[in-house]
Amino acid sequence: MTRFYKKLTFIILLVFVVLSCKNDDDQEIQESMAENRKALGSSAEDLLSADTYKSMTIELVFSPAYKPTTQTLDLFRDFINARVNKPDGITFIETNISDQNGPFSISQIRTIENEQRTRYTVGDDIAVYVYFASGNANSDTSTSVTIGTAYQNTSIVIYEKTLQEVTNNVQDVLTRLEATTLHHEFGHLFGLVNIQDDDIHPGGKHEDLDHQKHCIIDDCLMYFESQTLKRDQLSKNIERLKGFQNIPSFDPGFCIHDLQVKGGI
Ligand SMILES: [Zn+2]
Ligand SMILES: [Zn+2]
Repeated sequence: MTRFYKKLTFIILLVFVVLSCKNDDDQEIQESMAENRKALGSSAEDLLSADTYKSMTIELVFSPAYKPTTQTLDLFRDFINARVNKPDGITFIETNISDQNGPFSISQIRTIENEQRTRYTVGDDIAVYVYFASGNANSDTSTSVTIGTAYQNTSIVIYEKTLQEVTNNVQDVLTRLEATTLHHEFGHLFGLVNIQDDDIHPGGKHEDLDHQKHCIIDDCLMYFESQTLKRDQLSKNIERLKGFQNIPSFDPGFCIHDLQVKGGI
């Protein structure tokens, strides 16, 4: 082979290697995106246990005016650390974006996620995305508002604009409602209640059959009123929240029992 052909072969090989690396990277990104686009509740064990994923990254996305309170973020860290078994730790990252134009349908919320989410599940690190929305849910009516939705296995939207409106931005009340909503939606990612039809307390003992996917215990975090608020009950709900010494938590008999069976602590 002449020098020229040797050189040419080398260049062709190099181009081939570079191209195949690029394909590998693309494929890896596509695969991890697919891992984060599964049905709600299907990653409960992956989130709770250390079997497949040893660490967790939680990405909190918001624009400056809709950042959750510092106390909410502190409460959230404690909440996660108390429930998930991740020996290599839990990382919380904040991603700043600009205001998006609401009100939002869930398909718009998914589009924002596709554009703004920067962390996906990779290796033994499972990633979760939480968006604090700069607009209301477009399903809001004159009688009720939605304050949060868990819509995929690792995706949550908190309607921060709505929370600020219904609490008149009074910080203590806002923190209570914000943290309760965030923890409640995370409970849905953990599979509560009976999201995947695999509850270990079947037959209406745990799931409130009048308000499916929610807990029958009325002071549990997973009680149905934590997701949709009736406008005429707003002040009653807020007074109720203010009356608690701490914000609502999972009831030990059913909800915590479920989480522990799925590998939580
Ligand atoms: Zn709910
Ligand atoms: Zn419960």
